[in-house]
Amino acid sequence: MGTDNSISRRSFIGAASAAAAAATMAALAGCAPTSKEESLASTDPTSWDEEADLVIIGCGGCGSSAAISAAENGASVIVLEAATTMGGSAVLCAGSFVAAGTKMQADAGITDDPDLYLSDVKGFLGDATIERAGDDWKLFEMQAREGAATVDWLQAMGVEFNGPLPYPLHSADRLHVLTPTAGEWPKALQPRMEELGVQVHFRTPAERLITDENGRVAGVAASGRKYRANKGVLIAAGGMDSNVEMKKKYYSSAIAGIAAANGFNDGSGYKMAQMVGADITDLTDATSNLMRTSGPGPDAGITQKQKWMPYGLSNAGAILVNSAGERFCDEELSDKDLIPLCEAQPDRQCWMVYDEAVARNFRDFPNMIVSSLSGVGWGTVEDFIERGGIVTGDTIEDVAAQAGIDATGLTSQIDKWNKACKDAIDEDFGRKTFGREEAGTLGAGLSTPPFYIHGPIHAECNQSWASLAITENFEVKNVEGDVIPGLYSGGQMGHGLSPIAGGGHGGTMCWAFTSGRLAGKHIASL
Ligand SMILES: Cc1cc2nc3c(=O)[nH]c(=O)nc-3n(C[C@H](O)[C@H](O)[C@H](O)COP(=O)(O)OP(=O)(O)OC[C@H]3O[C@@H](n4cnc5c(N)ncnc54)[C@H](O)[C@@H]3O)c2cc1C
Repeated sequence: MGTDNSISRRSFIGAASAAAAAATMAALAGCAPTSKEESLASTDPTSWDEEADLVIIGCGGCGSSAAISAAENGASVIVLEAATTMGGSAVLCAGSFVAAGTKMQADAGITDDPDLYLSDVKGFLGDATIERAGDDWKLFEMQAREGAATVDWLQAMGVEFNGPLPYPLHSADRLHVLTPTAGEWPKALQPRMEELGVQVHFRTPAERLITDENGRVAGVAASGRKYRANKGVLIAAGGMDSNVEMKKKYYSSAIAGIAAANGFNDGSGYKMAQMVGADITDLTDATSNLMRTSGPGPDAGITQKQKWMPYGLSNAGAILVNSAGERFCDEELSDKDLIPLCEAQPDRQCWMVYDEAVARNFRDFPNMIVSSLSGVGWGTVEDFIERGGIVTGDTIEDVAAQAGIDATGLTSQIDKWNKACKDAIDEDFGRKTFGREEAGTLGAGLSTPPFYIHGPIHAECNQSWASLAITENFEVKNVEGDVIPGLYSGGQMGHGLSPIAGGGHGGTMCWAFTSGRLAGKHIASL
C-alpha cells in the first residue's frame, strides 16, 4: 500500500490539514452550499494533484473493504483518512458480525441461511419498523444475503473470528466475533491493500467534494491537494459522533455533549455531501449512547435492560451508585433519561453494585450482562471479572475499597436499599422494581456475598444513526430522490432508513464491511 508514512511529510500534511480543515469547517457552518463558481473552479484537469478510478473518504471498515474490493476488480484506488492509522470505529468496537450461511457455520454443522435470518429479524422488529424503512428494507435484505460472503472473504484474508455464537431471538448460531479483539483486523487488511497497490493518505481529512460542469462529483479536496476520481468518490467517513453542534441540531442538547468513542467521526462527510445536495435520512432515532465500563477492553458496554433478554442487571436487583456510594436515580429509567443523570455525577462516572443472588442469573446464555464484550460477544459475569471490569469481595467494605468507592457511604446506602426492597417502597427515587421472582431476588435486597461492583461506567456515544440516502448501488441521492452522479456511500454514513442497526449488535459491522465490499466492486465495474 502506498502510504504517506514519512514522519516529516506526515507532520507537514497534518499541520496543513488542520488549518485547511478549520477554514473549511468555518465555511461549512450552517451547511450552506458553496457557490457554483467555487466548485467549478477546481475542475481544470491541470489542477489535479493525483488521480485514481475510485477515491475513498475514510479508511474504517467500509472504506478499507471498498478499497480492497475495487482493487481486486481492477480499479486504481486512493484512500484519504483523517486519522494516523486505519480502522475507525471498526477497531474500537466489540467486533460482532451477524451473518447467516458462513463457512464457519457450515464447518460447525450449523444449518442457516439468509431467509431464516430475514424471517427472524422480521419477527422481532415488527411490521412498523419494516414499513418505515420502505425501499431501504432492500438494503437490509442485501446485508442478510451478502453478509456471509463478507465474513468468508475477511477470513480468507486472515481475519479471525470467534463463534458462531448463539444470539437471543435468532434461530441459529450466527454471531461471529472478531478475535482476539476488533483491533486486529487491520493486520490482515492493511497488507492486502498494500499488495493491491491501494494508495492511503493518513492525516488527510477530506474537506470538500469537487464537482464538474455537469454537477458530477469528480474528486475531493484535502490538505491543499486535489484528488481526481475517474469512476467515483465513496464517502465512508463514519457518523457525526463527535460533533456536538450537529448532534444538538439533529438529536438533542441532552445527549449532544456525551463523549464520542471515535473523535474522528465528526460529521464532515455529511456536510460535504450536503453541499452537493445530498439528503440525510434516519434522523429520528437517538444516537446510540451506550453505558460503557472502562475496565475490560475497548468495548465493554453495559445496558440496564437488554432488549434481547428476559431481564437485565438492575431489573434483577442491582443498583447504580456514585463515588460517594450513593444512589442517584431510578435505575430502571430508559437509557435516554438515565444517561444525563449518570453524566451529572462526580467525574461523570458511576458503578453498578450487586450481590451473588443477582450475579448467578448472569452466568449463562441468554442471560448475559452485555451483548458486545470485545472478542467475546455476549459477556457473562466471569467474562468481565477475567478482563478486569468487575471487582468482587466478601464484604461491602472490601469490594468498595477495591473499586475506589466510599465504603461507609456504600454500606449505609445498601442498608437503605435493603429496607426499600423489604417494604417495596423506594422513597428516594420511586423505583418500582425490587428484584424479580424468576431471578430469585424479589424483595431480597443486596445481602448475599460475594458482592460485585461493575465499573466505573461512563456514557459514551458509539454511533449516530444519521445516514445519507442511498440506492442499492450505493449511489447517494439528493433531496429530490435523484442520484448525485459520481457520489457513493456505505457503512455508518450510508445505510438509508434500513433497520440495519435495529437488527441487533453485529448488524452495523457486517453492513460496514459488506457495503464496502459491494460498493467497491460496483464502482470498479463502471
Ligand atoms: C465502542 C463501539 C462498539 C461497537 N460495537 C459494535 C458491535 O459489536 N457490532 C456492530 O455491528 N457494530 C458495533 N459498533 C459500530 C461499528 O463500529 C460501526 O458501525 C462501524 O465501525 C462503521 O464502519 P464505517 O467504516 O462506516 O465507519 P468507521 O469504521 O468509523 O470509519 C470511518 C473512518 O472515516 C474517517 N474519517 C472521518 N471523517 C473523515 C474525513 N473528513 N476525511 C477522511 N477520513 C475521515 C475516520 O477517521 C474513520 O477512520 C460499535 C461502535 C463503537 C464505537
